[in-house]
Amino acid sequence: MLDLQAARRDTPGCFDRVFLDSAGSSLPPTPVLETVIAHLRREAEVGGYVAADERLDDLAAVKTSLGRLFDVPASSIALTDSASRAWTSFFYAVPLLPGDRILLSQAEYAANAIAALQRAKTTGASVEVIPSDASGRIDVDALRGMLDERVKLVSVVHAPTNGGLVNPVREVADAAHAVGALVLLDACQSVGQLPVVVPELEVDALSGTGRKWLRGPRGTGFLYVRPRLITELEPAVLDLHGATWTAPEAYELAPDASRFELWETDVAGRLGLGAAVDYLLGLGVDAVTEAIAYRAGHLRDGLADIDGVTVHDLGVQRSGIVSFTVDGVDPVAVRDALAERSVTVTVSRRSSTLLDMSARELAAVVRASPHYFVSPADVDRFLAHVHDLARS
Ligand SMILES: *Cc1c(COP(=O)(O)O)cnc(C)c1O
Repeated sequence: MLDLQAARRDTPGCFDRVFLDSAGSSLPPTPVLETVIAHLRREAEVGGYVAADERLDDLAAVKTSLGRLFDVPASSIALTDSASRAWTSFFYAVPLLPGDRILLSQAEYAANAIAALQRAKTTGASVEVIPSDASGRIDVDALRGMLDERVKLVSVVHAPTNGGLVNPVREVADAAHAVGALVLLDACQSVGQLPVVVPELEVDALSGTGRKWLRGPRGTGFLYVRPRLITELEPAVLDLHGATWTAPEAYELAPDASRFELWETDVAGRLGLGAAVDYLLGLGVDAVTEAIAYRAGHLRDGLADIDGVTVHDLGVQRSGIVSFTVDGVDPVAVRDALAERSVTVTVSRRSSTLLDMSARELAAVVRASPHYFVSPADVDRFLAHVHDLARS
């Protein structure tokens, strides 16, 4: 069981508001904030290079911590400045020829889909969408029917940005591997709220961000690449960190996942990311998952009971993202009315997950994403406000 009072003490931002946007950009716990600020102060004292040299071991430990979280070697982790940067740096390194096929999920995030469409345009590969089953999850049988040896990459969104769906990652990976396709997992909304254990999921790569459920700083992200794949892939963008200039006309790629990184980074943010991962490991992923599921379940059930409110979450197992609309009230107006009452939610628009939202004829949904620091009283206060909005 997670200690709610301790979690709240470490989260000053949750004292005077009901914060329900950990799927957007969460409230960092105090140790993360202190780590970032301390490093910025040190940079101002001794300069960025000396300050970073003083923390070399801690910087290396960031990858070790992420490796522990995913149960993979630290050398298979690259640190980036966002989840999209991580996703694209793997995706653009996968060789594609005319006639090759890329499969996307129905809940695909816009950034991934745009990259896939761009690569299809420049390589002659095609982009196809895996249908969903009746529950809204990836239809694994339909996927098996689509697969052949021209499928080079299958993209799976673990938990989409616009609702509580959780996709069956392992089943997708097993099916895709049967024809030799690579599986790229968008774990942006799952890392920090659900267990993401690579040897169980069997994905070839995964991308994620610091600022969402991990409660890390903005401008941080990470990529895992299966160790034996790393040396087969040449990133589309390299600098003097991912490669070494060894002769006037030659360069050598880094042997580990750092080939997917660029040299310059926000060192304070990176240390803060490490602090966020360590904070999560200290709490235990299972305790966090359970606490989020409890709060999201309470919130979702409470919304479903309010006349004039529709919950839009798909799937069987549900994530901590709750999506809903209030009859006759624009989602932006719902968000703004809640903001006036010190409740933070966001709006997820059709263009972020175009395929899924279009199929369901949704223009936008309100998104409430409670983390473990949200108290039961917070959830009740939120429900009371939504109840008032639905009545007026
Ligand atoms: C937020 C999000 C992303 C993008 O993350 P960035 O860090 O903003 O690049 C990708 N996929 C999903 C499902 C997301 O919710």
